[in-house]
Amino acid sequence: MKIIHAGYIILSDCNGDDILKSIERIGRVCYKSENKISNESAREFVSNLIMRGHESVIEHEKITVKIICDRGISHEIVRHRLASYSQESTRYCNYSQDRFGNEITLIKPCFWDDKSEKYKIWKETMEEVEKAYFKLINEGAKPEEARSILPNSLKTEIIVTMNLREWRHYFKLRTAKSAHPQMREISIALLIDLKKQIPIVFDDIQP
Ligand SMILES: Cc1cc2nc3c(=O)[nH]c(=O)nc-3n(C[C@H](O)[C@H](O)[C@H](O)COP(=O)(O)OP(=O)(O)OC[C@H]3O[C@@H](n4cnc5c(N)ncnc54)[C@H](O)[C@@H]3O)c2cc1C
Repeated sequence: MKIIHAGYIILSDCNGDDILKSIERIGRVCYKSENKISNESAREFVSNLIMRGHESVIEHEKITVKIICDRGISHEIVRHRLASYSQESTRYCNYSQDRFGNEITLIKPCFWDDKSEKYKIWKETMEEVEKAYFKLINEGAKPEEARSILPNSLKTEIIVTMNLREWRHYFKLRTAKSAHPQMREISIALLIDLKKQIPIVFDDIQP
């Protein structure tokens, strides 16, 4: 049994300046003000779009991220409907095979200290689940059957593609204090990263 931390990899080539310029080129069609495009004009233009709530224009740009999280969190992510997803399948992945290291992989809950009683209970339960999963496979169960006992803590990888407007909506909901701690763990780190790579677009969103 392997325990890892949640994380993400930004798969898109996020060139902030190019993204802002592209949004400006598109947005200025609405106002027929293409003649105002200069090397410095994109930031102010995109900032005004967002401030005025004219966010349909930023839908033209998208970002793809690989998120490594547990199945509980991936279940929350896929509730966002204006997105495309591709996710590791517990039907087709047989964790007893060599390519999975003959073990299940779990995401460490970020809210429990390693030395706490709660963490100990969680870890012991996961060990029992792993044993039972392998017993079922040895009894001839298919992975799609044996998965019935796999926990929310099981590691999954999910590729998420959203346009910038949907990412803004996602971050507003998923970095808020009311969001699940494990959701915040990933979303706040991702938001900070994207703010660095793409100016303006996420600046007004504060976790
Ligand atoms: C703190 C928190 C607690 C939650 N608790 C629960 C819970 O207990 N149970 C539960 O089932 N879910 C829960 N959710 C999930 C939540 O209900 C939404 O399904 C999820 O956040 C996706 O957001 P969304 O529906 O705003 O938008 P998305 O699916 O991301 O869509 C973006 C926007 O597009 C528009 N839109 C999309 N589809 C439609 C449509 N069919 N009709 C009209 N407008 C549409 C809306 O304006 C929407 O806000 C929770 C979410 C959060 C953040």
